[in-house]
Amino acid sequence: MAWNLPDELSNVIVTGKSGAGKQPRIEVLVDEFDLEQLSTGNIFRKYLGKFDNFDYDDNLDEFWDGEDFIPDNEIAEKLGTEDESVILGMKAKYFVEQGLFVPDRITNQLFKSYFEERGCSGQVLDGYPRTLSQSKFLLELVEEKDTAIDFVVWVENSDDLIIERTTKRRICPECDKVYHLKYDPPTEDNKCKECDVEVIQRSDDTEGKIRSRLQEFKDKTIPALKYLKEKGIPIAKVPGHLEEFTPENVKRSVMEEIEKLY
Ligand code: AMP
Repeated sequence: MAWNLPDELSNVIVTGKSGAGKQPRIEVLVDEFDLEQLSTGNIFRKYLGKFDNFDYDDNLDEFWDGEDFIPDNEIAEKLGTEDESVILGMKAKYFVEQGLFVPDRITNQLFKSYFEERGCSGQVLDGYPRTLSQSKFLLELVEEKDTAIDFVVWVENSDDLIIERTTKRRICPECDKVYHLKYDPPTEDNKCKECDVEVIQRSDDTEGKIRSRLQEFKDKTIPALKYLKEKGIPIAKVPGHLEEFTPENVKRSVMEEIEKLY
C-alpha cells in the first residue's frame, strides 16, 4: 500500500509508557523512512553493564548525598577507577534499577553527544525526551543544529496490559532485540534468534519497578509531551495493543495515524 507521506524525515520521537510496545512501532519507522534508532534506555543499559562488569557489590547510596551524587573524583576514589564509563554506569544503575528517571543533566548531555555523533538527523528518538526540561533542551538543540522534529508517535497502552507484557519481556544483551515469552518468543532454548546469545530479563522489569516507571510517565512525561504539542509538533497516537498482533497490522496502525498528520 502506498502512503501519502514524505520520503525523507529529519527526526521522529517515539514515546509512551515504559512497556507500552514502542519497539515494534520504532521498527516500522526505521524501515519505512530509513531512520536509525537512538534509545537513551539502551545507552544507559550499556553503561550499566560496564559498571556491573566492574564487580562492585557495596550499596550505591554511598555515592549519593541525599540531593546529588558526590563529586566524580570522590566516586573514582571509592571505586578505585577513573574510567568515566564505569562512573556513568554507576549513576545510571542507581536510578534505572529503582524504576526512576535518570536526572536531566546527565540524560541531556549523554543524549546530545550521541545525537551529534549521528549527525543530528535521521533518528528515531526512543525514550527521549521524557521530562519538560528534556523537551526544552531538545528543541533548543534542534534549532541550534538547524534540523527538525517531524512528529511524535505516542504508543498508548493501559497500565494492566503493560504489567502483563513487561514481566514477560526478554531482551538480547548483544543486539537489544526485544522478545515476549508469549507473543514473540526467543528460540526454544531461550536464545536470540539473530545472535544465538541467551536472552535476559531486564533488572528493572519487576512489577514494583514497572509501577514506579508508570508513575514517572504520568508525573513527568505527560508535561513534556504537552510542551512539544504547544510548540507545534504534531502527535500521532497509535494503539499499543492490537487484537491481532501481526507485522502488517502494526505497520498499518502506525502509518495510518501518521498519514493523518499530513
Ligand atoms: P527504557 O528502556 O526506555 O524503558 O529506559 C529504561 C530506564 O532508563 C528508564 O526507566 C530510566 O531509568 C532510564 N531512562 C531512559 N531514558 C531516559 C530519559 N530520557 N530520561 C531519564 N531516564 C531515562
